[in-house]
Parts: sequence; structure tokens; C-alpha cells
Amino acid sequence: MELKAPRGTYDVLPPETAKWQYVEGVLRDTARLFGYSEVRTPIFEHTELFERGVGDTTDIVTKEMYTFEDKANRSLTLRPEGTASCVRALIEHSVYGGIMPVKWYYGGPMFRYDRPQAGRYRQFCQFGVEVFGSHSPFVDAEVIMLLVEVLQRLGLDGYELHLNSVGCPKCREIHRQKLVEHMVPVKERLCHDCQTRLVKNPLRVIDCKVRACQEAIAGFPTMYDNLCETCHNHYAQVKTVLGDNAIAFIQDHNLVRGLDYYTNTAFEIHIPQIGAQSAIGGGGRYNGLIQAIGGPDLPGIGFAIGMERLLLALETRPGAQRVGEEGRLQVFLAVQDEKYSALAMRLLDRIRRTGIISDRDYNQRSMKAQMKYADKLGARIVVVLGEAELARGTLVVRDMLSREQQEVPTESLTAVLKDLLA
Ligand SMILES: [Zn+2]
Ligand SMILES: [Zn+2]
Repeated sequence: MELKAPRGTYDVLPPETAKWQYVEGVLRDTARLFGYSEVRTPIFEHTELFERGVGDTTDIVTKEMYTFEDKANRSLTLRPEGTASCVRALIEHSVYGGIMPVKWYYGGPMFRYDRPQAGRYRQFCQFGVEVFGSHSPFVDAEVIMLLVEVLQRLGLDGYELHLNSVGCPKCREIHRQKLVEHMVPVKERLCHDCQTRLVKNPLRVIDCKVRACQEAIAGFPTMYDNLCETCHNHYAQVKTVLGDNAIAFIQDHNLVRGLDYYTNTAFEIHIPQIGAQSAIGGGGRYNGLIQAIGGPDLPGIGFAIGMERLLLALETRPGAQRVGEEGRLQVFLAVQDEKYSALAMRLLDRIRRTGIISDRDYNQRSMKAQMKYADKLGARIVVVLGEAELARGTLVVRDMLSREQQEVPTESLTAVLKDLLA
């Protein structure tokens, strides 16, 4: 049997890896700039955490979790998302006993047993931030501003920010009743799933992707029109701060979160250039989650962004091919004869000590083959250790961009390389 990576997974090979490192660097730097620190939690957790923290009626928990029993018959699950683990860590280490708010960021692989389709994987990567312990609408705005700053640094100016408020349990109950009243008369026109949702969670009908369902419920009472005074004011302040900071948004009444512990601000980032499935990430407030997982009554807010989709979006940007180029090989040392191998090693060491990314031939190729190899590696400069030049105490330095070459004294090599690379 030919061994292949499991279905729904992928390898990232060079030079693609450089793009990942670049995007990860932008995310980390921006989060730090905003005063967030990194948290690292395990890849697997007790299954119960996700049942409580993601919601045991969601598709993620009912259909898509990678759950297994370990050798001591404990039910464990590969994390399907990052927030539940962050909350678990916050509670377990009593971080809430310290100074609030706690501002964390995280990144890494997540797992869902989904049917693999274009752009969707069973192992995928997310980056996210969480803020625990503040009710301030300015925090909602900060989290959104962080995400927007990331997109701007990545040159993704064509994003759309969708914004809504999902209220609090109090105003949501009133909204829910109005929704049911609106939907019951058109029940027969809803898809099979929505007929069940109508009883269990009518809010979920609103974000059903089936067109007939959307047509049937057209003109539905919005959450926005039913926000209580506190929720209305909170939302108004978030919007004011975004406006103050020149961040445009779209009021999206279809943006809902189906679970009780989500409250107030909800948002999604779309990049229309990547196609119909244009959402690359989103988030919102979850003032009820920490308590649902067994912690104190603390508010929280966060977002998660899909790395694969973010990288896909990056490809649509002009100049995307050059992303990560700064990590590429700068100097290749071509060795004309094996007898200069030890000298090549000392020379390479000298070049590397100046911070120039460099490599050499190890396989005694012909000069022609070494040039081809250097080209393949993308080397900017090739330094040739040739017999005739070495006899004169010099080396040949070839600029692979301009195709010009010069003979330089061995002792001034690193200075010449620095000049050329500057
Ligand atoms: Zn409310
Ligand atoms: Zn439906």
C-alpha cells in the first residue's frame, strides 16, 4: 500500500511554508501590539469540555468531533476549536483571581470530521484571541480593530465586516417568541432541518443556507429591533467606536449565533475575492460561556480566523508571490573541486556569521549542475571557488539577477556580498 496523508489533511512544503510563517508572524505581532499574550493548550481535551463549551446540539459536537477512548477508557476529543480550551485553562489555573481583563491569543491545528470539500479540511489551523473579564463595549471594538489591523497589514483591504448584536437571554427570549410567531405559518415551506430548528432553536433558521427557507421567512423580526435597552446601548457604543476609527461595517441581521451563551456583539469577516464561501473568520461576545463550562460569572469575547482561508485570500492580493521571499537563500557557494571542500566550509561559516542566508554544494556536482541547483534554490548570488582564482587569492561572485560577475579578493568577500544584497 502506498502511504499517503490521511483524507482531509495536507502537508505544507517549502517555499509555501514561508507564507505561513509570514502570516503567523503578522498575527502574533499584531496581537502583541494590542497587549495580548500567547496561551498554549493541549491538542486534545476531555470530550465533556466541548459538549459543554461548544454546545451538545451543534453540528460540531453531534457529527464532527474526533472523539476516541484512550487506554484507560477516558473519552478524549481532538479540539474542534480554541475557545473552550482557553476557558478551561482560565478556570483551572484560577487566572480570574488575578488582574482583569485577561487578554490571550492562540494558534494551531483544530480537528473536525467533516466531509472534505474545497478549502475545508479535517485538520485545519486557526488563530484566535480571547478577552476575559470585561463588559466594556470598547473591548468589543478593540477585538474587531485587532482583526482589521491584521487584514490591513496583510494588504487585504477588500474585506467586509459584518456586524450584529445577538442581545442577552432577556431580549432574546422576546425575539424568539416573535420569530416563532412569524415562522409557524410558513413552516411547510421550510427545509427539513429548519422544521426541527423551528422547535429547538428558531434563531438557526435565520442562517440556514437553503434559499427557500430565506424566502419563506423574509421580513422576519430582527434581533436588532428587539434589543433591550442595555443591549441596544452596548451595541450603539461598539458602532460609535468603530466609526471613530474609520472602520466600515455592514449591519447583518442574518448574522446569528445559535447558542445561549453568546451575547451582544457578533461579527464576521468576509473577503469576497475568495468566492462564495467568503467568510474567513469571526467572533463575538460570550458572556455566558465561562459559567457554562463551570467557572465564575465572567464575560468574554473573542474571534477565530481560519489560516487556510486567510492564505487563500492572500493569494488574491497583488504581489502575493513575493510574500516570504526574504527568508530565501541569498548566497550559494559553488565548489569547483572536492579538494576545496574544507575551505568552502570555513568560508560558508564566515558568510553565515554575517547573517547572510547561505548554502553550498555537497554532492560534487559539475559546475554547470551547481549553477542549475543554485537557480532552483532561488539564490541571489553564487560564489565560485575556482582553482585559478584561488591561486590568485580571489573568488568569483556572480549576481544571479543582473547576470554580472566580478572577481573579488577572498578577504573582502563578505563586504562585497553585503553590498550586493543591500
Ligand atoms: Zn438584552
Ligand atoms: Zn432551512
